[in-house]
Amino acid sequence: MAARRVSATARHLAGKGRSSTADPLELEREGASFDPSVLAAMLAGGADKLALTRALNLQMSRDPALGVSVNRHGMSRAEERERSAIAVRRFVELWREDESAEVRRAREFAFALAWPSAHGRVSNHLDLFLPTLRALASDEQQARWLPAAEAFRMLGCFACTELGHGSFVRGLETTATFIPASAGKPSCFEVHTPTATAQKCWIGTGAQLATHAAVFAQLVAPAARGPSERRSAAAASHGSGQLRRWGIVVLLVQLRDTTTGRLLPGVSARDLGPKMGRNGLDNGLMAFSHPSWMGLTAA
Ligand SMILES: Cc1cc2nc3c(=O)[nH]c(=O)nc-3n(C[C@H](O)[C@H](O)[C@H](O)COP(=O)(O)OP(=O)(O)OC[C@H]3O[C@@H](n4cnc5c(N)ncnc54)[C@H](O)[C@@H]3O)c2cc1C
Repeated sequence: MAARRVSATARHLAGKGRSSTADPLELEREGASFDPSVLAAMLAGGADKLALTRALNLQMSRDPALGVSVNRHGMSRAEERERSAIAVRRFVELWREDESAEVRRAREFAFALAWPSAHGRVSNHLDLFLPTLRALASDEQQARWLPAAEAFRMLGCFACTELGHGSFVRGLETTATFIPASAGKPSCFEVHTPTATAQKCWIGTGAQLATHAAVFAQLVAPAARGPSERRSAAAASHGSGQLRRWGIVVLLVQLRDTTTGRLLPGVSARDLGPKMGRNGLDNGLMAFSHPSWMGLTAA
């Protein structure tokens, strides 16, 4: 290896190498026992994919609204947040114009490498919220919500973790209480944060941007008739009827007005502060006080 490096350096100094620069990285590449461009194509999944990635990188680096080439190291958190929100808007414009899913995937990957925290604001929607909607919502629910979600007319976040509960999903405390239809009103679920430890914690885009959330919660509903009713010692008393917990459900909850971005009544959210390398992404601490919305899964 050392001999190859010496030989490449000698070739370079003698002006015989392919390189016209003294960049040590170039010298290393010239001394490689394989063709780096072949390796680059292999890692990208083929020469065509590599060409696409490079074209997108170039296009994105030259786009001032996207701002991926701006030096962010001296920016305040507020400034990086603002710039990343502008970048997200531009990303969505470009993403809407992309002609295929392959180009969109490549664009998202390039954005992730160029500006991880701005990409985080997009990926919470594309890679966490949307797959949850696709996997858990009924056909009817998907017909109602997917077109808006896929077109970024709503921005979703993924609200599982709570202040007191991370990996242990079964221990989550947020409740989703089933309210049966009455007096002409359709049935719904009321979402509630009963304790401080039940606050949804670290939720990406929850602090500022997300308009909707996939909220993981304990389903509270009337105890069933039959054998399970005999187990009603475990059932919680709620209002006039016997209610019990049925396990974790995921609900689609609207957090903010999609036009003004203001939090809706019954929803609170605050910022969790600075994060090394991720200041462009707004991770939030969220709580609910009985807003009603729809369920995506049965218990
Ligand atoms: C920057 C950032 C962004 C995030 N974004 C989101 C988001 O958008 N949405 C969201 O819902 N969450 C989000 N999270 C939360 C993240 O998913 C949780 O931190 C994660 O689920 C772990 O939970 P915890 O931190 O409470 O750790 P814990 O669950 O308390 O785990 C602590 C440690 O105990 C270990 N452990 C836990 N349970 C067991 C077990 N049963 N057996 C053995 N070992 C165990 C774990 O491996 C870990 O080492 C984010 C977190 C960060 C830091």
